[in-house]
Amino acid sequence: MSATMTSPAKPSSKPASDRLFNFSAGPGVLADEVLRQAQQDIWNIDGSDIGILEHSHRGKVFDRVLAEAEADVRSVGNVPANFKVLFLTGGASTQNFMIPANLLPQGGTADYINTGYWAEKCIEEAKFYGTVHLAGSSKEKNHTFIPSQAELKFSPKPAYVHYTSNNTIYGTEYHYTPTTPAGVPLVCDASSDIYSRPIDVSRFGLIYAGAQKNMGAAGTTVLWIRDDVLERCNPKLPTMLRFGVHAKESSRYNTPPVFAIYVVGLVMKWVKKFEYAGKRGVEAMQVYNGEKAKLIYDVLDSSKFYKGHARPDSRSLMNITFRTPSEQLDDKFLKEAQAQRMDGLKGHRAIGGMRASVYNAFPKGGCEVLAQFMREFERKNG
Ligand code: PMP
Repeated sequence: MSATMTSPAKPSSKPASDRLFNFSAGPGVLADEVLRQAQQDIWNIDGSDIGILEHSHRGKVFDRVLAEAEADVRSVGNVPANFKVLFLTGGASTQNFMIPANLLPQGGTADYINTGYWAEKCIEEAKFYGTVHLAGSSKEKNHTFIPSQAELKFSPKPAYVHYTSNNTIYGTEYHYTPTTPAGVPLVCDASSDIYSRPIDVSRFGLIYAGAQKNMGAAGTTVLWIRDDVLERCNPKLPTMLRFGVHAKESSRYNTPPVFAIYVVGLVMKWVKKFEYAGKRGVEAMQVYNGEKAKLIYDVLDSSKFYKGHARPDSRSLMNITFRTPSEQLDDKFLKEAQAQRMDGLKGHRAIGGMRASVYNAFPKGGCEVLAQFMREFERKNG
């Protein structure tokens, strides 16, 4: 472990001179010290004279890496002891079918909230296993908002309720945790806002997140599952599909995604010691992320030129979506931003326009530069 990974992490304001401001929606930006540590450990980790990519997944070095990654995922997220933390493969998308395979019994119904693209993919896959009841939807308003608790209508006995806490493409985010009917597990796809703010894990039955935004590198999906939910899982599934197998084997039933788990470990150590506004860890991240997003939303709110996609009460602090008055101006915006070393601002093809993804490791200085650029672009083109 280098000195940089053990001293407190302070937010940086600009990228190294040979790097861009990376607004990518994912895989996304990682902290400099995480990347520097990984560079070193790819060559030689823990003084073993072998790199992390080359160690056996059952050797002592990976024993340490895995144990620390899990312990740090737990401590950063304040995860209760009655939850298992699993490192799985196949992307968050594999959970679209793995969750209903395990938790939706034959003839059963699961409730889903449709807040756009990724939520829709979950719904489509669940239909292979049982009945899907739509408990809420933002579809008729082009996914510009998050349904409120009062707008949710659950089925009489759902196996679980599934929602997507942050909609990466539309730039909307829940600012509350849905309450489910008594005894019904809440299942959350938190791929694009996990650990951006504190959450009360005990409110959930299952949470999952592709690591490639706020937790590390593509290649692993982290899953938090409550013990009583694990016990409900269907035992008659192919081995690799059973949550119980991965839990029993502590994520080492087969060769796990060694490098991706290692990077999650580094990112968790970085979040744990992140300091801002007199706070630490995820609490500090919440303040930092709020200030970052505000810089850009303030520009939208004071402009007649830009139009934000999300309704103000449903705005995401991770993905900020907006457009100019025309597609031609959107293209010009993207070209000129790129020339000023801002990369990855093009909106998803489903909605067009621009999207600024400002995950945990994205520096506030980058939001200041973008806000300034937006004002200047409006002045010249508005
Ligand atoms: N859910 C959300 C909210 C996402 O943003 C994404 C990917 N951007 C996915 C699911 C799919 O993740 P993966 O590519 O890891 O399957």
